[in-house]
Amino acid sequence: MPLFETTYIGVFTIVLAFMFGTVLASFITCTAGRILAGMDWINEHSKCDTCGHQLGALDLFPIFSYLLLGGKCRYCGAKVPIRCLISEVLLGVVFVIVVLLHGTIDVVMARNLLLAMLMMGLSFCEIDGKVIHEGFITAMLVIWIGALPFVPDLKLYISDKIIACTLICGLFMIVSYLRKSKGKEGFKPGFIKLMAVYLLYTGLYAGVAFLAVGFILHSFVKPFKKTIVPALSVTCLVFMCCMTDRMDTSVIYGYITALADYIKVF
Ligand SMILES: [Zn+2]
Repeated sequence: MPLFETTYIGVFTIVLAFMFGTVLASFITCTAGRILAGMDWINEHSKCDTCGHQLGALDLFPIFSYLLLGGKCRYCGAKVPIRCLISEVLLGVVFVIVVLLHGTIDVVMARNLLLAMLMMGLSFCEIDGKVIHEGFITAMLVIWIGALPFVPDLKLYISDKIIACTLICGLFMIVSYLRKSKGKEGFKPGFIKLMAVYLLYTGLYAGVAFLAVGFILHSFVKPFKKTIVPALSVTCLVFMCCMTDRMDTSVIYGYITALADYIKVF
């Protein structure tokens, strides 16, 4: 059934999508923090980073907790990083845009949204801990494999993604080898693995476009200069909002053909 059959269902869906995005962002921010602190990220209760006080349900409500408590810990007054609020609003908005564009969230779309969420977690780990945490990459791979039964034309799909993965990662390996042979630093540990999984999601054309924009952000925009994953993560979110169909090679190919047709007319 289409989600926007009536205004009531439409509004309900948008609110739900927004809340879902904020909750997932809150979860992944929290998980990234726990992983960096070496805590058990499933069983342990959330605590304030500064005073260690166990947080209650009221402290964990995305966005509202932050605004109600003025971005401070209720118990010790320590500042909660503004990026918690930004990531929650951002993922909430992306979920709403995706629902509005697609009218529905199918398994492949949900998979892509989870990729965006995991990229966010990976970004926080890289900003705070300077590492590309492999746990997130494994989760991305498991989710990708889990969604495979739901992609149309599986054989073509897999071969396209494997080609993308081999070509681009092969290129990265050569670059890394050349840099090392000149005595320069290669890529960060985990970076090529991350690229391999990222390309399994995007395929060749979209992957090249994603990486190009990501590297431009990383090279020229100040807040993204120190770490690469946040730039790729933001690119991933932006592309997800722009695309009228799934994050797939056919979409980019469609744009290129449309552009070529347009140029031909003039
Ligand atoms: Zn505190």
